[in-house]
Parts: sequence; C-alpha cells; structure tokens
Amino acid sequence: MSGIICPNCKASLALDRIGVHFQKFCSAIKTEVSRELSVKKFNRLYPYMQSQARGEITLEELQAEADKIFR
Ligand SMILES: [Zn+2]
Repeated sequence: MSGIICPNCKASLALDRIGVHFQKFCSAIKTEVSRELSVKKFNRLYPYMQSQARGEITLEELQAEADKIFR
C-alpha cells in the first residue's frame, strides 16, 4: 500500500485517506480543539501531498514532513 504512517496514532494511511483521517478519524483527536489543530496541520501538509502526487518529492519525504508538522 502506498501511503504514510500517522505521526499521532501510528495508523497506516493510504494517500487518499490522509485528509479524512486528520479531519475526523485520528484516534489522537479527542476534543474540538484538537480536531481544529489537526485540520490546520493537515492544511500545512497538503501542498507536500500535491508535490508527492506530482513526483517532486518521495513518499519518504512526505512522511518526514508529516512527522515534522504533526510532531
Ligand atoms: Zn492518526
């Protein structure tokens, strides 16, 4: 499967499930505040997902950005 590991809950996420995971389903999201924070972080990750889709960065680099943003 092509995807990344969620830095919060360590679930493996298919690329097309990353957005919905960070907006809704991540088990690290327990409050409205943490949901909003997670959405903000996802918005920062999104351009990197687009770069990865265009082949400009590797999946490993996308994972590294996710780790940095969600740390
Ligand atoms: Zn998660």
